Amino acid sequence: MTTPLADLLRRRIAQQGPMTVAAFMAEALGHPRHGYYMRRDPFGTAGDFVTAPEISQMFGELLGLWCAERWLAIGRPAKVALVELGPGRGTLMNDALRAVRGVPGFLAAVSVHLVETSPALRAAQRATLAAAEVPVAWHDGFDRVPPGPMLLLANEFLDALPIRQFVRMPAGWHERMIGWHDEAFQFTVAPGRSPLAGALSPAASGAPVGAIAELCPPAIALAGSVVARIRAEGGAALFVDYGHARSAAGDTLQAVRNHRPVPVLEAPGEADITAHVDFEAVARAAGEAGAAVCGPVEQGALLRDLGIETRAAALTRAAPDKAEQIEAACRRLIAPAEMGTLFKALAIFAPGQTTPAGFETTAPTGAETSQGGEAR
Ligand code: SAH
Repeated sequence: MTTPLADLLRRRIAQQGPMTVAAFMAEALGHPRHGYYMRRDPFGTAGDFVTAPEISQMFGELLGLWCAERWLAIGRPAKVALVELGPGRGTLMNDALRAVRGVPGFLAAVSVHLVETSPALRAAQRATLAAAEVPVAWHDGFDRVPPGPMLLLANEFLDALPIRQFVRMPAGWHERMIGWHDEAFQFTVAPGRSPLAGALSPAASGAPVGAIAELCPPAIALAGSVVARIRAEGGAALFVDYGHARSAAGDTLQAVRNHRPVPVLEAPGEADITAHVDFEAVARAAGEAGAAVCGPVEQGALLRDLGIETRAAALTRAAPDKAEQIEAACRRLIAPAEMGTLFKALAIFAPGQTTPAGFETTAPTGAETSQGGEAR
C-alpha cells in the first residue's frame, strides 16, 4: 500500500541509498506530518491497540501510589516533578492523580511534566487532565523537564524508541537496512561490518549466520539521563513495557494495525511499529550510570504486589453490576497468558534508598550492590 510517507521514504532511498531500521522507525512513528503518532489517537477498541491504562483505571491508580510511596521514601520533598514519558491519552496520569489524593501533602508538592512529541496526543492529554488540581506542563524531551526531585513513569514508551538491527554474516555483524526493490520496501544488509555491533550483548555473540540482533541507543541514552537526574536531585523511575528480561539475539520488530499484526514495512505511518524492550540492556546502562536498579519483575507480579486484587474487590463492592468487567480487566493485566508476564517493570532509584514497592522480592543491582552489598 502506498502512503504519503512511503512515497517520501522511497524517494529518500532512491537519492541516498538504503536507510537504517532506526531511521525508518523514527519516520514511521514521528514524522511531523505523516508519523503514526503525530495525527491520531491510536488507542482503544476503535484504534489499533489497547494499553494497560486504557484497560482499567486500576493500572494508573497503582502506579500513582507507587510514586507516592517513593515520595515518602525520599523524604517528602516540598516540590516534586511527576514526570510521564509518552502519556498517550493522559489516562494513566489522571488515574494516578486521583488515587494519590489520600496521601497527605503529596499533591501540594506535585507538578506534572508530560514528555510528548505528538500534537494530537498532547491535545488528548490536555482534555483528559483539564480538571487536574496540579500544574501540568508539556515537553518535547526528557532533558527539558525542569530540575528538582522527580518521580517518573513510562508505560509502553521504550518500545516506541527506534532500534537498530544487525544481521550476523560470516565476518561479523552487519547493519540491517531497508531498501526499495520490486516496488516494495525490502530488508537488505549493509556491505561492511558495523562498528556499533561492539555494543551488542555477549549473549548474541554465539548466534549463527543469518541471526538478527538489536540495539536501542535512545533507550540506553535515556536510562543514563534519568539516572544522572535521580542521582543529582533525588527521585525514582518506573518503566513498564513489553520485552525480555535477558538480552538475546532475535528480531522483535513488529507492526500492528486494527489490533492485527501487519508486515513491518508495508504501510509506514499507518501502523504502530514497536520492538521488544531489552530490559537487561536498560538495567545495565542504569546500573553503570550509578543507579540502584530492581527488576525487571513481571507486570502480573508487580500489580498483585501493589494490591490490584484488593482494589478490584473494592471497585466491585462499589459497582456490583460491573463485577464481570472489573474481573476481566484485572485478569487481562495480570494473567500470564495475557499481559501478566510479557509485560515487565524496571525500577531505578538512588543508591542507599529502600527497595520500591512491588520489587521487594528482587535483589537490587547496580550501584547499591557495589556500595552496600555483601563483600565477596
Ligand atoms: N503510555 C501510553 C501511550 C503509549 S504509546 C499508554 O500506556 O497508553 C507511546 C507514547 O509515546 C505516545 O504518547 C507517543 O506519542 C509517545 N512517543 C513516542 N515516541 C516519543 C518520543 N520520542 N518522545 C516523546 N514521546 C514519544
